[in-house]
Amino acid sequence: MLDPIRPSPTIEDYLGIIYTLTRDGERVISARLAETLDVAASTVAATIKRMCRDGWVRVTADKEIELTNEGLQAGMSVIRRHMLTEWMLSRVLKLPLSELHREAHQIEHAISAEVAERLQSEMEDPMFCPHGNPLPGYEDKARNWAPLSQLDPRTDFVIRRIHENLEEDYQTLSFLEKQGLMPGVEGRVIRKLPFNETIHLRIAENEVVLGLKLAHQLFVSEPDDG
Ligand SMILES: [Zn+2]
Ligand SMILES: [Zn+2]
Repeated sequence: MLDPIRPSPTIEDYLGIIYTLTRDGERVISARLAETLDVAASTVAATIKRMCRDGWVRVTADKEIELTNEGLQAGMSVIRRHMLTEWMLSRVLKLPLSELHREAHQIEHAISAEVAERLQSEMEDPMFCPHGNPLPGYEDKARNWAPLSQLDPRTDFVIRRIHENLEEDYQTLSFLEKQGLMPGVEGRVIRKLPFNETIHLRIAENEVVLGLKLAHQLFVSEPDDG
């Protein structure tokens, strides 16, 4: 199936971010997009104006940016292509987790609907990207995973997800990678020091100390439920 209309890479980036923020129940306003995309507010304003004109988004009376149905479909399409590309780079080229997002981001816009479909079946219809973020349509599967920061001491867990917010942060991702904090890895909370804003974990034989802010972006489940 061909994509009927595909927006430019820049517009696709906006649509993907608006989709993700909306999914997380965040208020999507221009200032938030400027911050996330690291561009000037005036640039965002001009782009959103164009996107309104072209029917991808609408802006509500209180300045909230909403996806139209076309915008939603296009946003889901680019996120899906992005996540499937991450799998391809991970499985076929064996790139480390910390590099997947950045590399996939360059390729995702160029992938046709046919290739995306092919990738989906070659990668065995994944529900999550390699970082554990849900593919569009599978959000419910990640709903019950709790932020690691909320766990009590002496709780065992399995890491399921490193939130998209961290995917662009190469330094943090390589740190997590070095400490063995990856989706699928089991661990235990040793202690939590809220006054120090740290959580101490046992991962394999090592003790790893994380800031609670970082631990809030990692999602876990109990060891035996997926
Ligand atoms: Zn990514
Ligand atoms: Zn990912």
